[in-house]
Amino acid sequence: MFADINVKVIIGLFCLSIVAILSHRLGIVDTKYPLLIKSNDSVKLLLKSAHVDSHFIDNAGVSLQCKLTNQDGYEFCGVGIPLTDGIRNNGLDLSVYNRMSVSIKYTAPVDNAKLKISFRNFNDKYSNLKDSVSLKFNSISYNPNRHKLPVDIPFDALQVDNWWVEQYKIGFTNSQVELTNVSYLEILTDSMNVIGDYNIEIQRIDLYGKLISEANLLKLILLIWLITIIFLVTLQRNILQRISITDSLTGLYNRQGISAWTNKKIFMGMARQCFHMFYLDLDDFKKVNDTYGHQVGDQLLISFSHYVQNYLDSIEGIQFTFARLSGDEFALVVIGLKDHQIKTFAKNLLGVWDAPIALEEHETYARASLGIAKLSADVKTFDGLLARADSAMYYAKKEGKNCFKVFNETVSQDIFFRKQTAEKIKNAIIHDQFHLNFMPILDAKSLKVVSVEVLIRANTHELLGIGPDVFIPIAEEYNLIKSIDLWVIETTFKKITKESTFLQSHPLVFCINISSVELHNPIFVQQLTELMSLYQIDPTTIELEITETCLVEADLMSVSTLEEIHNLGIHLTLDDFGTGYTAFSQLINYPVSCLKIDKTFIDNLNSADKTTSTMIKAILSIAESYQLKTVGEGIETYQQYAFLLEQGCDMLQGYLFSKPLLWKDLRDILSDSNQQPFIPKKIEWQNSK
Ligand code: C2E
Ligand code: MG
Ligand code: MG
Repeated sequence: MFADINVKVIIGLFCLSIVAILSHRLGIVDTKYPLLIKSNDSVKLLLKSAHVDSHFIDNAGVSLQCKLTNQDGYEFCGVGIPLTDGIRNNGLDLSVYNRMSVSIKYTAPVDNAKLKISFRNFNDKYSNLKDSVSLKFNSISYNPNRHKLPVDIPFDALQVDNWWVEQYKIGFTNSQVELTNVSYLEILTDSMNVIGDYNIEIQRIDLYGKLISEANLLKLILLIWLITIIFLVTLQRNILQRISITDSLTGLYNRQGISAWTNKKIFMGMARQCFHMFYLDLDDFKKVNDTYGHQVGDQLLISFSHYVQNYLDSIEGIQFTFARLSGDEFALVVIGLKDHQIKTFAKNLLGVWDAPIALEEHETYARASLGIAKLSADVKTFDGLLARADSAMYYAKKEGKNCFKVFNETVSQDIFFRKQTAEKIKNAIIHDQFHLNFMPILDAKSLKVVSVEVLIRANTHELLGIGPDVFIPIAEEYNLIKSIDLWVIETTFKKITKESTFLQSHPLVFCINISSVELHNPIFVQQLTELMSLYQIDPTTIELEITETCLVEADLMSVSTLEEIHNLGIHLTLDDFGTGYTAFSQLINYPVSCLKIDKTFIDNLNSADKTTSTMIKAILSIAESYQLKTVGEGIETYQQYAFLLEQGCDMLQGYLFSKPLLWKDLRDILSDSNQQPFIPKKIEWQNSK
């Protein structure tokens, strides 16, 4: 856009420069300076001798009637027009004019009588200031038009009258008239040799000239170009700088903008006041984007920023700046809120967009999670503050969204723990310090092991006591999960290949957990395919488990990844089903073949509350109507087992049957010629009844 403006300004300036130069050359903008002011005062009578009678007649111009009564030597009669206020030695610079237009009629008793036009010049190069005659040398002879028509006398054609030059031996033969310092213009009879009437009738004398010399005009144009270029460069730099710190969608500051603002305030000593950073992240924004499209998503972000901005504007006594960091993440810095005001402020902030926001024809809610951090002795920069507020926001999300969390010691310790654990996971990946456990999944009716869930374990004492329920989410957070998933898949495939003989007599399906991250990993399916062909894996011998929450956030890419996996002939299971609030009707849209009911439902079966059992019944019945298999996970009691069996759950998994086992142990148990190794003990069944 500014490039456009620049080009326009430069083209405009170029045209103007050309026009100015041409106008100057063609004289379109010449100035006019009238020399004749029609008043007797402004015109002086000049006479040489007493032999001339003269008088002025002031009509249309200035008329001078002179009568030579007796000829005695050099006689003259004429007028003088002062060009300045009369201060001697200080003349007018006529060189800035380039012509003189005169309308003079002159009648004399001789033919071809000439007038002398003198430019009295006080330039001492030309005149002896003490000699009034030499001052006149700077003159021309002029044969005026009898018809009073204006005649143009170009100044550059004016040559000093040689008569004077010879007379005074000044040595300026054929010289230009000097016009720089002219204080008097004299119009005189050239000579009065014959007795009679000499009438000079001056109608007009105008000077025409350039407003400015061409050299100066060029200098001026150059100067204007210089100023314009400096202006444009500065303007462009300012615009670019403003763009670089502004979020184009909302018009708020971007990360760079708020960072500069905050650091400047800290530098200015504002840190001595209460200085808080708020990190806002919209909840389930992706859903809005996926459901209504990106345009509506963008509108939501704009409306949201307006709501917050309006709320902030309404609060007195604070200084603040509000910025969009990226996507649905915003940061707000507030100076002037006391510690005891923070909670109310945060609650109000979360409440400002409580009502649905109207977007085109849709209406949606914008909820956000909020993390808060305070400037303190150990964190004194924007980045430090933001990192803390971000961590606090992460906890707000974990605590169920649409709430706020203030960064405190617990959060700080947790961050430290997560960072350390991430380091340990990285080391474990590098040194191959993991192994697999296999947890039997039984057919509900026959209680025979039909499949096993592959579960990762860390071998290193560094991660002792830290299970996958803890380290897998950390691995996801620190971008380490892809290596782990790949390692589990490859190790399982190796196992299947190695145990192919055993598996022929004891067919098992290996259920492998994969992280939701893989659904956005563009090379995951390709890697999976390559490993399958490398280890010659029959796709029916494996299943992939993804958590139901993946689907809640599923977009086009994840659904297409699921389709590709399905097309490889691999069955997909929705893990921890029931926690993600997937609408049952949407299940049809995903290529899954099995639902694994979340352990929390099974746990709750023991309580008196009948809601859970109703929910499980609903899941089982819906699964049946969609022809999906079902697994009950986390079964620990006979009561749970009996309920699921009765309700028609297809498969069962839980400590009641077996804990996750090392392959060697699982193999030993399965190889046992005695049938049905995992039948629950009757005693427990009776106890639980
Ligand atoms: P999940 O996929 O839902 O796995 C089931 C978890 O519940 C396992 O815990 C299993 O040991 C536990 N479990 C099953 N039945 C019972 C029961 O009756 N009582 C009790 N108390 N627990 C039971 P584990 O192995 O600690 O895994 C936890 C989570 O870590 C898994 O949940 C899964 O989300 C993740 N995970 C485990 N292994 C892997 C892996 O290889 N890759 C990935 N991406 N995630 C994994
Ligand atoms: Mg699982
Ligand atoms: Mg599970």
